[in-house]
Amino acid sequence: MSHELGSEARPLRVAIIGSGPSGFYAAEALLKSDPHIEVDMFERLPSPFGLVRLGVAPDHAKIKNVIKIYERIAQKDGLRYFGNVEIGSDITVDVLKKYYDVSIFANGAQSDRNLNIPGEDFSGSWPATEFVAWYNGHPDFRDIEFDFSHETAIVIGQGNVAADVCRILCKTVDELKHTDIAQHALDQLAESKIKHVYMVGRRGPVQAKFTQLEIKELGDMDDCAAIIKEEVFTFDAASQAEFDDPESKTAAKNIPTMKTIAKQNRGNASRTLHFEFCKSPVEIKGETKVESIVLEHNELTGEAFKVKARGTGATEEIPCGLVFRSVGYRGVEMPGVPFNEDWGVYPHENGRIEGEQGQYVVGWIKRGPSGVIGTNKPDSQSTIAQILEDLPTLTPCEVPDKDAIENELKARNIRPVSYEDWKKIDEAEVSLGKDIGKPREKFTRISEMLDILKK
Ligand code: NAP
Repeated sequence: MSHELGSEARPLRVAIIGSGPSGFYAAEALLKSDPHIEVDMFERLPSPFGLVRLGVAPDHAKIKNVIKIYERIAQKDGLRYFGNVEIGSDITVDVLKKYYDVSIFANGAQSDRNLNIPGEDFSGSWPATEFVAWYNGHPDFRDIEFDFSHETAIVIGQGNVAADVCRILCKTVDELKHTDIAQHALDQLAESKIKHVYMVGRRGPVQAKFTQLEIKELGDMDDCAAIIKEEVFTFDAASQAEFDDPESKTAAKNIPTMKTIAKQNRGNASRTLHFEFCKSPVEIKGETKVESIVLEHNELTGEAFKVKARGTGATEEIPCGLVFRSVGYRGVEMPGVPFNEDWGVYPHENGRIEGEQGQYVVGWIKRGPSGVIGTNKPDSQSTIAQILEDLPTLTPCEVPDKDAIENELKARNIRPVSYEDWKKIDEAEVSLGKDIGKPREKFTRISEMLDILKK
């Protein structure tokens, strides 16, 4: 006799791929809903929490408090965590379909957008995403060597990631040493010779994407003078209209904060952080390594809220040894899942992946890399609502047995990390951190994490 999907006799079997905020909010919404649902969450690394652990800046400890919410969700009945299992390679999407009625992709945007300018691939030109992953102790980026022997670094983009990168480059070791920054990063930053950082935006201060708190922090570092020229506050007509509009919430807060910074006199600081507006990178110059960057000056065109940058032909060249391209994250294709190459996302209709049945999407791989952590909650909830609506039409998977996936992993010689295992790794990190005045010292190698579980 067949049982209905979502009944006590035949719970809906759901796989969530990714353990960042969107994955946890999806799990929470599923477990709160009425039907009987069993959720297995897969994570490529042994450690959970995605960008909260490996993207949020080390000096933003408060933002990481959200992990406490995810811990509560992780310990709910009905949710199992499988860390150290990569969907797409260890387990293909086709195999996943055999064991789960529904797969929810919450795997975020793991790559970065390109600038498409000459010299972008020179040594010394980095995606900001890799620098962020490096100082946060991501195992894949542990061994990158950034060359901090130069005096000038350029950060392209004016979003909150660019603000994070600037802070980490400009703060003193004393400001960072009691955070959870990876020790290898702190040691290399301690030797940094960087004196000048330029944060370059293609449009004006009204259109800058960073938010007030982040700008305020940039004006408030121990040994770095943030420099904003007064002239940038003379707006063109469209920017003025945008700033005056009550809808313009970010600029309404950002501009007064920037004006306060512009008036500061921090002449004796060892480092300077220059806010550059209306400039676009057009070329990175050098033989094989970055030696300078050419910026084209822009004028702003278009109406309020649709303001675009247009090159004027006038350029300037800034000698530098490091360039960080912080122009947005980008999703990565996964074999077996449709991909929109232009947008770097999985194409979907209200979370249901186009042309597929039983495949859904949440978070940055659904809507692109925008919004704060909390934005993911309603986003995930709306996908779950769609799944519940689709429930009567879903095709049951071939093997709904709960133990089957564990046997499959064993057969493939894959050692999954359970949530209990993770708590052991977590405790070990916290204990290592305690000895040196940090909230935790992250393990930056997967082998180190797995070694803890052998004890
Ligand atoms: P973002 O906010 O979209 O900023 C991207 C920046 O790159 C913008 O300044 C954009 O300029 C610029 N850009 C894009 N293409 C460019 C090009 N071809 N040439 C020059 N500049 C270019 O992205 P993000 O900084 O990566 O942040 C991603 C999301 O995470 C955001 O929602 C952010 O708020 C969030 N986040 C939040 C925090 C926090 O809460 N503290 C920290 C980090 C990240 P245009 O505006 O002209 O496109």
